[in-house]
Amino acid sequence: MTNSQNPNRALLHDVHDGATLDDLLAGRHRLMFECKRCGASQEVDVQSLIRNHGGKTRIAYLKRVLACDRCPG
Ligand SMILES: [Zn+2]
Repeated sequence: MTNSQNPNRALLHDVHDGATLDDLLAGRHRLMFECKRCGASQEVDVQSLIRNHGGKTRIAYLKRVLACDRCPG
């Protein structure tokens, strides 16, 4: 396997802004996001995001506020 693009992993960046966390959970996608602060890639934990923000939270919002574990706030 020399293909660097894993088809089972989508980037949060490629998800439609109008989609919600509930949509992600229903699709069972494995999502990665790249932290805007440090550039680290991390898997998105959809269920914990729903606990924290609610299932109706839009992806557009998450793209603005998500940071990785290493970056504060
Ligand atoms: Zn970070």
